[in-house]
Amino acid sequence: MNMKFKRKLPLPMEIKEMYPVSEAGKAAKQRNDEEIRSIFEGRSEKLLVIIGPCSADREDAVIDYIKRLIPIQKEYADSLMIVPRVYTNKPRTNGSGYKGMLHQPDINGDENMLKGLIAIRKLHIKAINETGFSCADEMLYPENHRYLSDLLSYVAVGARSSEDQQHRMTASGLNIPAGMKNPTSGDITVMINSIKAAQRGHEFIYRGWEVESQGNPLCHAILRGSVNKHGQNIPNYHFEDIMFVCGKYKESGCANPAIIIDCNHSNSGKQHLEQIRIAKEVMHSIKYSPEIRKFVKGLMIESYIVDGKQGEDGTCYGQSVTDACLGWEKTEKLLRELGDMRRELIGGK
Ligand code: PEP
Ligand code: MN
Repeated sequence: MNMKFKRKLPLPMEIKEMYPVSEAGKAAKQRNDEEIRSIFEGRSEKLLVIIGPCSADREDAVIDYIKRLIPIQKEYADSLMIVPRVYTNKPRTNGSGYKGMLHQPDINGDENMLKGLIAIRKLHIKAINETGFSCADEMLYPENHRYLSDLLSYVAVGARSSEDQQHRMTASGLNIPAGMKNPTSGDITVMINSIKAAQRGHEFIYRGWEVESQGNPLCHAILRGSVNKHGQNIPNYHFEDIMFVCGKYKESGCANPAIIIDCNHSNSGKQHLEQIRIAKEVMHSIKYSPEIRKFVKGLMIESYIVDGKQGEDGTCYGQSVTDACLGWEKTEKLLRELGDMRRELIGGK
């Protein structure tokens, strides 16, 4: 093989012992998990909002951002369930660019996976200890999930991964919701098959073990838009797109059918400000159609402190180094509007 085995990394169990989660943190995760589960099982009509930067580039700004979500979550406790996006590993379309804090714990420093594993665990611990939020991350590397499994309340399987068998089988062994994104091609069958595969049990190899999973009834769909053969973005958040997915979902016989609309990526054509309009359009579809209301459980929004994006040296505090994000003022306004709309729909406070 043409690779150098540099060093053996600590097992997840070892890193968990070195950096344990507090008792209060454990209790917070349990509460959040139950709240989120009740949304997916249809026992709660709160709107799930998975929101935060495209990538978690530095601890201070990410924690600052999550702290800003606390008063909004409190004010809209009857209508919103906020899950911060703390994405610590990033898939790259052509292989180049920032691969996240796991690879580069200091965005201007060298790649260092040991320091990276510790940095991402510390970040998620700080989030839960200081804010009570247990967060969402992308499960880009299924083998790494156990380094964070006691901290995360939600994972997404990205557009470039949802057709992959190891991702599907690992998702089948989680006891938190795993959102399977539609592939970049937009093929809805691939996404539905991914949910089907992850909802059943499997026997497979995981971290050098022969394991048996139970199947994950909380695996569900995330619509993120697609890219056609000419490289143009094709959205899939409109009324007719969602109705089409609802139909396919029903035919599939999957448990707890649920759809999250990703307002950025190919749905916005990476025009981050369009997320505001897209989120509101989806809220309108939910209000208009009982079918869509039943299926669409939440939104994913890319948001940070400063509007837009910056270069990969990351010199601007709180501005995205990967996809452009909504800044804090617009985010706060949008969250309140979404909370009010949801309240009106479900008859909250
Ligand atoms: C993301 O959520 O930042 C992301 C990379 O998403 P996708 O897999 O849909 O491209
Ligand atoms: Mn992104």
